[in-house]
Amino acid sequence: MIRRGNRGLVSYHFESFDPALVNHAIYTRLGGVSEGHFSQLNLGGTNGDNPEHVRENHLRLFENFGMPFESRFDVWQVHGDTIHFTDMPRPESQKHQPGDGIFTQNSEVTLMMRFADCVPILIHDPVKKVVGLVHAGWQGTLIEVGALAVKKAVENYGCDPADLRVGIGPSICGNCYQVGKDVRSQYYRKWGEKANEIISESAQGNYLDLWAANEWSLRNAGVQHIEQAGICTAENLHEWYSYRKEKGLTGRFAVAISLTPKGENCKDGE
Ligand SMILES: [Zn+2]
Repeated sequence: MIRRGNRGLVSYHFESFDPALVNHAIYTRLGGVSEGHFSQLNLGGTNGDNPEHVRENHLRLFENFGMPFESRFDVWQVHGDTIHFTDMPRPESQKHQPGDGIFTQNSEVTLMMRFADCVPILIHDPVKKVVGLVHAGWQGTLIEVGALAVKKAVENYGCDPADLRVGIGPSICGNCYQVGKDVRSQYYRKWGEKANEIISESAQGNYLDLWAANEWSLRNAGVQHIEQAGICTAENLHEWYSYRKEKGLTGRFAVAISLTPKGENCKDGE
């Protein structure tokens, strides 16, 4: 991954995404105005942080990203299987729709999602000129929301999974993510023997490897180009929010992605 700093904000970028065609950034918690548990660049609006700070953080992020704040399309992430396709931003007056996957073909839309341990999955199709963003915690991973999003993009835009560039972003790693017996048994029920490869057992308990699980599920859906960030949120609190490690008293970092005008389908027959 490429790490960049600009006026206090620090972001990470996948090397396999072509910057001429797609803008993307995974923002660390550095460079914002939030305080205490939320320090500093918290983009979560429903965790108790000061709304004025959250607003200022959004403005800083969008200035850094190089897109207007009004270009934002985001959803209410609910650990479900709803995938949205949009060709316009979400007006600020309009409520968030529930969903865990979002796609657009419009270079004037910035897709944005919020994370603190769950897995960000970034998608770019340089052929059909589509970007997407998926949120996968243990529940989304269980139901293979990443693979489902790919399948929906195939149906909706005619994408070929083999063309996609997919990035699996910073999230809690398989050594840190302890899960209970209930989660373990749900994986065995749904994934069968495959669960052996993503859940490890030790004297301390069961550990779920969300990175491996999502990569397997995406490859199974035909995706060939996958880049893993390999950054664990729980082990790097100086840069990331971790819901698990910080026992729920934390903020949310943001992932943003949009097509560049060059990466978008020609308009007006140009
Ligand atoms: Zn870890």
